[in-house]
Amino acid sequence: MTERGLNFIGGAWVPAASGATFERRNPADVDDLVGVFPDSSAADMAAAVAGVAEGCAEWARTTPERRADVLEGAADLLAARAADLTVELVREEGKTLAEASVETGRTPRNLRYFAQLGLGLTGTTYPAAAGGGLVFTAQDPVGVVGAITPWNFPLNIPSRKLGPALATGNGVVFKPSPVTPLLAQRLVEALLEAGLPGGALALVQGGAEPGAALAGDPRAGAITFTGSVPAGHAVHAATGPIRRCQLEMGGKNPVIVAEDADLDVAVGVIAKGAFGLTGQACTGTSRVIVPDALHDALVERLVAAAESRKIGDGRDPGIDMGPLAADFQLEKVLSYVRIGQEEGARLVTGGRRLTGDGRERGFFVEPAVFTECAPDMRLVREEIFGPVLVVQRAGSFEEAAALAHDTPYGLSAGLVTRDLDHALAFARTARAGVVKVNQPTTGMGMTVPFGGLGASGSQTYKEQGGGQLLPFYVQEKSVYVSPHG
Ligand code: NAD
Repeated sequence: MTERGLNFIGGAWVPAASGATFERRNPADVDDLVGVFPDSSAADMAAAVAGVAEGCAEWARTTPERRADVLEGAADLLAARAADLTVELVREEGKTLAEASVETGRTPRNLRYFAQLGLGLTGTTYPAAAGGGLVFTAQDPVGVVGAITPWNFPLNIPSRKLGPALATGNGVVFKPSPVTPLLAQRLVEALLEAGLPGGALALVQGGAEPGAALAGDPRAGAITFTGSVPAGHAVHAATGPIRRCQLEMGGKNPVIVAEDADLDVAVGVIAKGAFGLTGQACTGTSRVIVPDALHDALVERLVAAAESRKIGDGRDPGIDMGPLAADFQLEKVLSYVRIGQEEGARLVTGGRRLTGDGRERGFFVEPAVFTECAPDMRLVREEIFGPVLVVQRAGSFEEAAALAHDTPYGLSAGLVTRDLDHALAFARTARAGVVKVNQPTTGMGMTVPFGGLGASGSQTYKEQGGGQLLPFYVQEKSVYVSPHG
């Protein structure tokens, strides 16, 4: 079935004002047209922001309980539809069924969690200077929050932005990735069906033009962005110095394998982080740093792990690696495979486009492993966002730690070891927002703070996790009250 998608602007489902549309096709089979969606302009975005700027006051006046009910109601709808959403997610983005079902399971839980966090929002009271008076802090919504999101978790990431924004009484203008418009629409449909007033939310489909218009619109008091470093920098520049801006961006995440590590554990941790989600996770493992003594044995096992992947259309339950999400992803991965070879790294397996069995109609690639990688290579320093693993040698644990930090990024970093001293030293010194010991660099807890260091994030507000998350979505006000007369 082909979806005929619309924007949701000013409380109504509408096409782009120009009538322009774009197509989204299944990345496993480009003959399969998933949907046709509005190719929105800056003018569409201006109308969306105007609508939410006007409509959000009604939502701000609702009780926290009412807001929680709407989020819980949307969670119930999404949970009831999880099986269908899982298939749509596979078809639109290319995940495997198992990967997609993790996301469709997590999204309702996120909304429920934020519903409860919103209920727990409190202020503080202070001793009053004047007799009988009261001083307290109030947590008001910011007003209009702009949410700009990537395609690799098209339900999970938006739910972590829309959930807290709505729970705290904000209106939201949601600009999803043009790679995953259908799942974005499904999230908005569930929220509206659960009783969210139409004035509190807008959905604007399309690419960088409406995204830039949202970031640059002064009526949006806060912009929460997840995506690449270049787009994040553009968003940051557009929001300027006054408005709130939260950026979560890319990574080049290392795993150090210590000399004492069990190689089976190491390969399990690395392969899941590197090849899971077809390497398209911001926290995916892209570098392995290993001592000379373990190098050859580890590489041999990594090659076996890469070559054992069953690659195909994720709708087939026997598949454990789906396609890349889009043609530009395939081009990027293949270009880095070429770059790595030109730079002198040794490609030990993979890196070719896969065809045959109908796979020529999709964006399938063999997972790649490179060895003999020097720290200054682009292959080692730049985010590829695909299943390409580079292996670096280190003479000592200290050298390995130094190599791990030797990129501008700082999202997730891993260590495989049995040595508690190494684990604690790495946890203390790693320049990464997330440190994993004996676990894949991917996979984060819903209630745990999450945000990148270095070039990976703005570091102004954590994206996820309890008390650290809500302050982005509220403005605190100090109120002084005295009795009259
Ligand atoms: P992208 O930067 O191309 O797009 C992200 C969003 O920004 C999309 O909605 C896009 O339309 C919009 N956009 C693009 N240019 C813009 C501009 N100039 N102004 C405003 N909006 C603009 O990223 P992507 O390809 O969708 O996603 C992959 C990237 O996201 C990777 O770099 C990945 O590491 C990162 N990512 C980070 C996290 C995290 O939590 N740190 C999570 C997931 C993905």
